[in-house]
Parts: sequence; C-alpha cells; structure tokens
Amino acid sequence: MISSPLSQFGDRLSQIRQTLPQTVRLIAVTKQISPEMMRIAYEAGIRDFGENRIQEAEDKQEQLRDLTDVTWHLIGHLQSNKAAKALELFSWIHSVDSLKLAQRLNQIAESSSEQPKICKPKIFLQVKLLPDPNKFGWSAAELLTDLPLLDQCIHLDIAGLMSIPPYGLDSSKTQSVFTQTRDLAEEIRQQTRQHNFRHIQMRELSMGMSDDYLLAIQAGATMIRLGRTLFGDRA
Ligand SMILES: *Cc1c(COP(=O)(O)O)cnc(C)c1O
Repeated sequence: MISSPLSQFGDRLSQIRQTLPQTVRLIAVTKQISPEMMRIAYEAGIRDFGENRIQEAEDKQEQLRDLTDVTWHLIGHLQSNKAAKALELFSWIHSVDSLKLAQRLNQIAESSSEQPKICKPKIFLQVKLLPDPNKFGWSAAELLTDLPLLDQCIHLDIAGLMSIPPYGLDSSKTQSVFTQTRDLAEEIRQQTRQHNFRHIQMRELSMGMSDDYLLAIQAGATMIRLGRTLFGDRA
C-alpha cells in the first residue's frame, strides 16, 4: 500500500514529537512550502506556522483563511516600512532585531490599540552572540545597553530572546550559542529586577532549527522552528 502524504507527514511529526518535552512549542517553518502541503500539516495537528516573508505569508493566509485556529509567526528580517503589515498578519514576531524596529512596532501598536490583534504584539528580541555577516540582531552588550529604552515600549509584549547560530558551526559551538542565549536572558531578568523595568519579560526562548533543535531544547528552548526535518529540503 502506498502511504498518503498525510500519513507520511504524520509519521514524521510523531517521530519528532517523541523527542520533544510536552512544553516545547513546535513551529512548522513553511517558507517555500505550498498551501496544499500546509493543509496536510494542519490535518496532522500543526497549529503554528512560521514564515519569513510578508508577501508570501499574506498570500498563504488568504488561501488558508478557513483554518481559523492557526497562529502565524514571523521569523525573518522585517523592514520598518512593512512593520504595520507584519502586525496585521502575525501574532508573534521572532525577528525584532533592532531598537529602531522595536520602537516602530511599539508606535504602531499604540496607535492601533483598538484592534485586538495588534493590541499587544508578542515579540522576541533577536540576538547575535557570534559575529555573522548574514544575520541581524543585537550583541549581548548592545542589548543590555538598550534595555531602558526597550522597557519604554509598553505596547509590546517582549516575551524573550531569539537566536540563530551561524551556519555550519560544530555542535559544541552551537550548544555554546544556545547556553549563552539562555544566560543572557537570565542576566536581563536580573537587570529587570534591579532597575525595576516593568515591560520586559524573559519567559520564552525561540531557538533551534532542524539540525540543532535537540541542543536548543537542552539549553532551555521553549519554541523551536523546524522546516526541513518536517517537510524535506527546500528547492
Ligand atoms: C528557515 C528558518 C528556519 C527553519 O530552518 P530548517 O533548517 O529548515 O529547520 C528556522 N528559523 C529561521 C529564522 C529560518 O529562517
């Protein structure tokens, strides 16, 4: 008997789920994945989709409008001029990578506070703990410096840190990036108490992709973002 795409996807998903603690939230990264395949993922139980482009996400949301209990996550770099659109499309923005972008999102959230979805957007601060020309994000020192100004972004729910290790690191260096991210979140928690910041929370860690999610979970990841291991290699 030939197995259907749904049973194939379902098998892969349950194999992965067996390796995850119950509390870890799995985000299916669906960039370049067709809406048809996303429907299959939905039928298999996926309720969190991660996209990295505004236009692609908008088109897919249009086609998947009937899936009303899906949560959409933006995981790719966001330009300030698309910030308003991003807040309409996504409940979570994992890739807030500069003070300027955080302040822009805060401003939009403030001016659209009558729209429930935009009311208090949930965001991650993206950090870059090793130099990486291909990535955006705060260094640890820059982020600690910016905390007082981030704390003034009172219309944002600053939920935690997001990090992506540079491509091609060995597993001990990758592990070290994840533990440094966790330690930085702890440092921020301490500063938050010390300085009485009221709007910065560090309750989530978004880290871990197909090749390294088990290391990320060991270091305390609460959300993992999986593409290839769920859907196969992208074109
Ligand atoms: C593409 C992407 C992922 C998923 O990567 P895989 O290696 O396919 O699991 C996760 N996070 C971000 C930010 C991405 O751009």
